[in-house]
Amino acid sequence: MNRMQTLRIELGERSYPIHIGSDLNAAELLAPYVTMKNVLLVTDSNVDRLYGEKVQAELGKNAASVTKFVFKAGEGSKNLATVENICRAAVRAGLDRSSVFAALGGGVCGDMTGLAAALYMRGTRYIQIPTTLLAMVDSSVGGKTGVDLPEGKNLVGAFFQPMLVLMEMNLLRTLPERELSNGFAEMVKTAVILDGELFETLERSAPELLRLSPGSPIAETVKRCCELKGQVVAKDERESNLRAILNYGHTFGHALEAVTGYTKFAHGEAVSIGMCMAADLAVSEGLMSGEEAQRQEALLREFHLPVDAGESVSPEALLNAMEHDKKSAGGKIKVVLADRIGHADVFSGIGREQIEEAVSGRL
Ligand code: ADP
Ligand code: ZN
Repeated sequence: MNRMQTLRIELGERSYPIHIGSDLNAAELLAPYVTMKNVLLVTDSNVDRLYGEKVQAELGKNAASVTKFVFKAGEGSKNLATVENICRAAVRAGLDRSSVFAALGGGVCGDMTGLAAALYMRGTRYIQIPTTLLAMVDSSVGGKTGVDLPEGKNLVGAFFQPMLVLMEMNLLRTLPERELSNGFAEMVKTAVILDGELFETLERSAPELLRLSPGSPIAETVKRCCELKGQVVAKDERESNLRAILNYGHTFGHALEAVTGYTKFAHGEAVSIGMCMAADLAVSEGLMSGEEAQRQEALLREFHLPVDAGESVSPEALLNAMEHDKKSAGGKIKVVLADRIGHADVFSGIGREQIEEAVSGRL
């Protein structure tokens, strides 16, 4: 089946299309953006081995030249040194302001390539070809680019929108199961905060989705997530209040990642546990029914995601880390809570004791 769906992220003059499907004709879809242009294709060492040559060839059918830049796979490469190396490779490849960067990879690759494009000659265009589910449903929409510093994650970056995102579902077939689950955590998040119907679709199809079975609604659910995130970002491109609901499960999740030294949990796993903490808190605050919290937990389990930390992190340490999270303005802990499946809000008046009580059940 090669049905393609196209979604437009509406951001005025920065609007861009996302093409979603299987067996997409990449050369044809890329042609309007790369014809006669010099392209720097940025990818990581794992993805390069699987898809590097093929994508280089697809771009090369219409581009003037395609130079590949490969960095070592892993979050450890997500730093300014790699961005500098990308920019230097661009100079050597003869890229100018009218040239194009193409990111082929997961979130690490997209975040860094986007930042390099934002900086190179004060701004060059870029294309994203996400290869992880997490990058498809999360980092491809919103224009957040950036890198880590030794002092912390994502501390340097820019909002910079791509001009095209190409999502080929077949690329997910080589993704390790743990990485796939990671992406489903963000999908569950989007459903819980914005779309009860999407949540039901996920409930009905979780096993097929996880297996990427031919009849599974993977493309449809990816599209819906991008659409929903796109609507939020269109109303609030630079993260004031509305966009904050996208952080559901993240204030807890980021803190959990930080206190466990970024080694124990993948991002989606930490967010999964964070969503369970948020739901427990919502139940204890009388916002959400216990039954709905149960449904959320059951769905996360279906996607093979953890629902508690399973180790002795002290609630105190977690709360301290939450207070340090850059999203908690003025020392007050802001949490996003769902009052039902499909709707969420930001709450800033909840006491530290209540939060500590709720998280301790998952530690
Ligand atoms: P994200 O931030 O989107 O989770 P990363 O860029 O950290 O993604 O990638 C996660 C890991 O998966 C990396 O080791 C990367 O090389 C690998 N990877 C990415 N895409 C694929 C794919 N389609 N098939 C196999 N491995 C992949
Ligand atoms: Zn996330």
